[in-house]
Amino acid sequence: MDNLRRIPAIDEVLMDERIKALINKYNRQFIVTTVRQSVDNLRLELKLEPQAFSKDDLMERIINSVEKKIPASQGTLYKVINGTGVVLHTNLGRAPLGSRAINYINEIARTYNNLEMNLTEGIRGSRYDHVEDLLIKLTGAEAALVVNNNAAAVMLGLNTLAVHKEVIVSRGQLVEIGGSFRIPEVMKLSGAKLIEVGTTNKTYASDYANAINENTGMLFTAHTSNYKIVGFTASVSMEEMAALGKEYSLPVMQDLGSGIICNLQEWGLNEEPLVQESVAAGIDIISFSGDKLLGGPQAGILIGKKKYIEAMKKNQLTRALRVDKLTIAALEGTLLEYLIGDPLKNIPIIRMLVNSPAELKNKAESLADKIKMCTANWDKLKEIAVKQTEDMVGGGAYPTFKIPGYCVELEFINGILETVVKNLRQMQPALIARRQDDKMLINVRTLMPEDDDLIVRLMLELIDNESNPGGLL
Ligand SMILES: *Cc1c(COP(=O)(O)O)cnc(C)c1O
Repeated sequence: MDNLRRIPAIDEVLMDERIKALINKYNRQFIVTTVRQSVDNLRLELKLEPQAFSKDDLMERIINSVEKKIPASQGTLYKVINGTGVVLHTNLGRAPLGSRAINYINEIARTYNNLEMNLTEGIRGSRYDHVEDLLIKLTGAEAALVVNNNAAAVMLGLNTLAVHKEVIVSRGQLVEIGGSFRIPEVMKLSGAKLIEVGTTNKTYASDYANAINENTGMLFTAHTSNYKIVGFTASVSMEEMAALGKEYSLPVMQDLGSGIICNLQEWGLNEEPLVQESVAAGIDIISFSGDKLLGGPQAGILIGKKKYIEAMKKNQLTRALRVDKLTIAALEGTLLEYLIGDPLKNIPIIRMLVNSPAELKNKAESLADKIKMCTANWDKLKEIAVKQTEDMVGGGAYPTFKIPGYCVELEFINGILETVVKNLRQMQPALIARRQDDKMLINVRTLMPEDDDLIVRLMLELIDNESNPGGLL
């Protein structure tokens, strides 16, 4: 109890020469907050310590603790090793960028640039001109516009072309994606009025046609990315939708979700419609994400008929949804890779998706060997094996499709699996592994080239921590 009374007051700590030096060097508020935290921690620690300490001792402890906390200060966003085998994991930041995109960001971020300057004419230009040409070349569309994300793209399309008007959608497509994007909610916010037609499993072109009246502003179709209706189903093809739009002079908008522009049929990934196919079918406006199967930065890409895209560019909402120069740089780098580079090799998520079973097996065997070496004397680990497993595309794409892959399977002594998985998740970098049948699985498809060595480091740290008094195991 007396210990607690001998804890120096915050003001006294702040008068110490060493703390004063820290205040001169760093942000004052940050140091004051850190001192408070250290004093609070000390108060808790002392409750468990029976011996008496002098006031000087306690001051020393506070200052040591402050000095230790400062260099450890960092942001809250850091690297995670994705051992889940889910290639597009929204919780893990979706698509890692390729080096062409990263180099582009590096070049643009550190200097001035022509974001909104038309250098030919020497007048103000538009930030939207930058990626437009690349998107036109890649997809065959007449025009393009890029906004913050696909949710914003859908909202902008609806608001521009159908505010206060009716938008006809198939009941089977009123989906929720990722727990926060609900087509009916987005539609309401955009000011358009949702008209549902058809039934959950069947919608025909005649259902749309019967609902069209003088208040109709748009026909809308969404790719039901994250679920699949099987059994007796009927939906309206893109060609039929486009024909309906033409017949009634109404714009047809398609929310494609993932938006893949690289044909991966050869690898069994043929369920997801290609962006080019929607354009060729005559859909007027198509929207998709930049950071799903495209493998670029977070963005919402709108492509389609020039008159509609131009109308969206003029909408005030576009100003609120606009992308910054870093997004534009990353997107240009990504799109250029598709146009003049080698996306199968250089777009990380595409590379992961086309990884052959033989390559994955090698990768798993090599990782298993490294883990075996560094854990040779660790009696808590019973067994290490390379096993076949199932990976997934994720990001709402190919919901029922499992890609055969390989993993390293670790079996620990009874009762510690949960703690091991939790500890690895809380280290830096964090390792997100899977758990299956009392074993820990690291799927190798989603590992980056440097991750093997980092996993070895984490394992050594885990073993090391075990022997510490405050240790994790
Ligand atoms: C993922 C997805 C969205 C949301 O896209 P964000 O880029 O995350 O805003 C919207 N619609 C569909 C069909 C999707 O799959």
